[in-house]
Amino acid sequence: MADKVIVVEAGMDQCDIDRTPSALFTDDEHQRYTWLCRHSGRMAIKNHRNGSVRDPKTSSPPRYSTLVLDASGDEWLTNWERLFETLRIQQLRNPKFFHVDPAHRDALLEFAVTSGRTGECAEVNGCVGRERSKHARKKERAAKRQDYYTPSSGLFVDQCRGIVDHYCLRDGMIRKEVVEDLDYHVGDGVGEGLFTVKTNRGMHQARIVVIAVGPGNSPRIPGQIPGQRIDGACHVMQMEKFPDPVVKTKITRGQTTNVLVVGGGLTSAQIGDLEIKSGVTKVWHVMRSHLKVKPFDLNLEWLGKFRNVKQAIFWSADSDEERWEQIKLARNGGSITPTFHKIMKAHVARGRLSVFTNTVVEARVWDPGAQRWTVQTEPEIDLPPLDYIYYATGIQSDIRSLPFLQTIQKKFPIESHGGLPCINDDLMWKDEVPLFVTGRLGALKIGPGAANLAGARSGAERIAWSIADILDENDVNLVDKDLSSLGIGNRYNSLTSDSETDPDESQESA
Ligand SMILES: Cc1cc2nc3c(=O)[nH]c(=O)nc-3n(C[C@H](O)[C@H](O)[C@H](O)COP(=O)(O)OP(=O)(O)OC[C@H]3O[C@@H](n4cnc5c(N)ncnc54)[C@H](O)[C@@H]3O)c2cc1C
Repeated sequence: MADKVIVVEAGMDQCDIDRTPSALFTDDEHQRYTWLCRHSGRMAIKNHRNGSVRDPKTSSPPRYSTLVLDASGDEWLTNWERLFETLRIQQLRNPKFFHVDPAHRDALLEFAVTSGRTGECAEVNGCVGRERSKHARKKERAAKRQDYYTPSSGLFVDQCRGIVDHYCLRDGMIRKEVVEDLDYHVGDGVGEGLFTVKTNRGMHQARIVVIAVGPGNSPRIPGQIPGQRIDGACHVMQMEKFPDPVVKTKITRGQTTNVLVVGGGLTSAQIGDLEIKSGVTKVWHVMRSHLKVKPFDLNLEWLGKFRNVKQAIFWSADSDEERWEQIKLARNGGSITPTFHKIMKAHVARGRLSVFTNTVVEARVWDPGAQRWTVQTEPEIDLPPLDYIYYATGIQSDIRSLPFLQTIQKKFPIESHGGLPCINDDLMWKDEVPLFVTGRLGALKIGPGAANLAGARSGAERIAWSIADILDENDVNLVDKDLSSLGIGNRYNSLTSDSETDPDESQESA
């Protein structure tokens, strides 16, 4: 049987596919709305006129048959947990109202309070009220303090686990499969057609597909093809062991070790710090622009009290091209938090770290015998032979080079800007193709925050609304419908009968 919805990923976005419009209302409207929604179902309500009592609702499983395909694993957040563990990230970067619970904006705060873990929220100094005048800032300082606390990684993950249980998203919903190709066969109306999804383990069918693949493309070491691994260097998003075994052996033997870190974002600072703490003699850190220090990944105007104004300007831009310009301006490349800036300065003062801004790596040569690199930079700096290079250079998103989107792009071409697809306002590929795109790839319609947790939540909300509209309108069970009437003939009937031999089929069509 065809799934009604297939989600490609098991990161953040799917956790919060629900119908609560927190992304679209102002905070006050949203809080009132969610309070009503929340409390009406969670407690017994007594009718004072007739004395009847309505019992609290229990959570029910998702309304639609949903399958999640994730290359990283068959558990929620596999990739996130791997990265956070490898990079030993203790605290999230963005404020605690960035989370994936669709219930309400302060759900993570509520979770921290009810589980007695408010101590795991760290205050971010120096930004409360920065978006206001000095006078207004003074007046509001006390009231708004709580907005700028960041949660610990453990608190955030535990809240996510709670959400998964609350919305019954656990049992067999995720499969570890890599999506290799996606095709769509148009039906009579939107959502009446059928997707065929080819993975490394087989075929699936769905009426709606959601793509939430993070940056999408594979990490790339400059000069190599995407995903390719080489000796003596890695892209941090592909890092498997830390420190690298060869470097570790040299440290254990008491040899002098030099490591190069390339990149200007928070991950580059984190990796440099970890290297020094693991015993590397010296870290050389090069970045192509100046060092930017910012508490959050976006400028405060996109997160603070007046972010709705910024978002409104973004949404009312005349074209996707204009929106792309706004995204570039808002993100402005990688930046480092004040906390890590302080840590870096301490390492520099102790002579364990040298930072070179406005510097790029021009060439590198690996000596397999000595197991060391010779690296040339522009402008030239005096680098010793290097034992390892970490590329913390981010991942470029470009749908044109995403292998699994090639068929769709040929069959249903759309434009792109900066590698991001020009999807419609419902985050759909095209009006007649119910392929939804969220996360970083949905940035032209979600906004500059698309790549962070707030973007993940707002994208999920918009998609959930559209899915509900499509499926509620055409709520026809495909099992009872002759698939050939969808214009796809016996080819897919045979796929369906193939899957009957699959012992996991009951999960797929749950
Ligand atoms: C190190 C790090 C720290 C971060 N810290 C913060 C923070 O503090 N605050 C914040 O707001 N945001 C943070 N972010 C951003 C946050 O992780 C993203 O907003 C969020 O994960 C986006 O969710 P997603 O589901 O769109 O993508 P992801 O969580 O990236 O998940 C994408 C999934 O898709 C899978 N996938 C990709 N291609 C395929 C395919 N072809 N077939 C099947 N599966 C596929 C991947 O394996 C992956 O599991 C951080 C990101 C990183 C990398």
